[in-house]
Amino acid sequence: MPPPHSATPVRLAEIYARDAPVVSCELFPPKDQRGLGRLWRSVALLETIAPDFYSVTYGAGGTTRDMSIQVAEELVGRVTAPVASHITIVDQSKEEIRAVLDHFERAGVENLVAIRGDPPSGQENWIPHPEGWEHTIDLVREVAQRGTFGIAVAGFPEVHPEAPDAATDLGFLVEKLAVGGDVVITQLFFDDRDYFAYVDTARAAGITVPIVPGLLPVLSSAQIRRIVTLCGARIPPDLDHQLAEAGDDADLAREAGIRWTTDQVTDLIAGGAPGIHLYTLNKARATRRILRETGLR
Ligand code: FAD
Repeated sequence: MPPPHSATPVRLAEIYARDAPVVSCELFPPKDQRGLGRLWRSVALLETIAPDFYSVTYGAGGTTRDMSIQVAEELVGRVTAPVASHITIVDQSKEEIRAVLDHFERAGVENLVAIRGDPPSGQENWIPHPEGWEHTIDLVREVAQRGTFGIAVAGFPEVHPEAPDAATDLGFLVEKLAVGGDVVITQLFFDDRDYFAYVDTARAAGITVPIVPGLLPVLSSAQIRRIVTLCGARIPPDLDHQLAEAGDDADLAREAGIRWTTDQVTDLIAGGAPGIHLYTLNKARATRRILRETGLR
């Protein structure tokens, strides 16, 4: 039976219809049971800033799908804010994905972040599961037909690395929204001009839904350099310089990263962004500090 708070589901479209900027925090499931303790301590700290919703990644970065499902389900019982689980179509048949959707419905997960997922490590190109869906649009259509979830889809201000060009990439975003996406959450970026230009182009292409900037607070030089290699985001020269100056002083790099994200949040909200989606990497202290310093919490 779903926990009591899900009796009045709060879908993403309703959340972003509110007047105040929406704060959402993305968590990732740990690799093993031991990591769960650390995750729940982070959640307890995040609860003190009352995010408008949480999201939980799915099968990313070496974590298992079972753990993703377990964490999303348990989170519903632990927090009062709505929970969005990410779901991908990597290496799963349609029937397997439908079973996961059934499970989320029963568990009281009100929203989904519907994405394709990256090819498994060691595999360069995207190869759909033989009995699965080929593109994210198929997943979004399936989820939307159920009518039980709010749906976020991903957008790429710096263009998805596999896309031939920005216009083609945006065309696919238009299609994902046409079949049922309620909001767009962007890939991480460090230069706000990329976000604002993306929003302008998206609006010109007829996209009217909220486009939520996804931000990653940089916590170390090594971390950020690894992540940008994976997702293709650009590190602006100024941030690059600050991280280089910090060298292997982890505290300095962390301070530079938090300052950068704090400035981004301030600038993006002032420029009309509907909220901020923080890729917390389960580091609640940095997230809390950024939200306090920007006055969002
Ligand atoms: P898509 O929109 O499917 O685009 C992927 C590529 O295919 C693009 O080049 C696009 O131009 C092209 N394309 C799209 N539609 C079509 C079509 N109909 N025909 C032909 N080509 C098409 N990964 C995880 O593994 N787990 C997660 O939980 C996770 N969460 C994420 C959350 C957010 C907000 C973001 C931005 C990314 C997340 N990722 C996650 C990473 C994501 O899986 C990768 O970025 C992936 O490469 C793209 O997924 P997508 O659904 O955005 O892409």
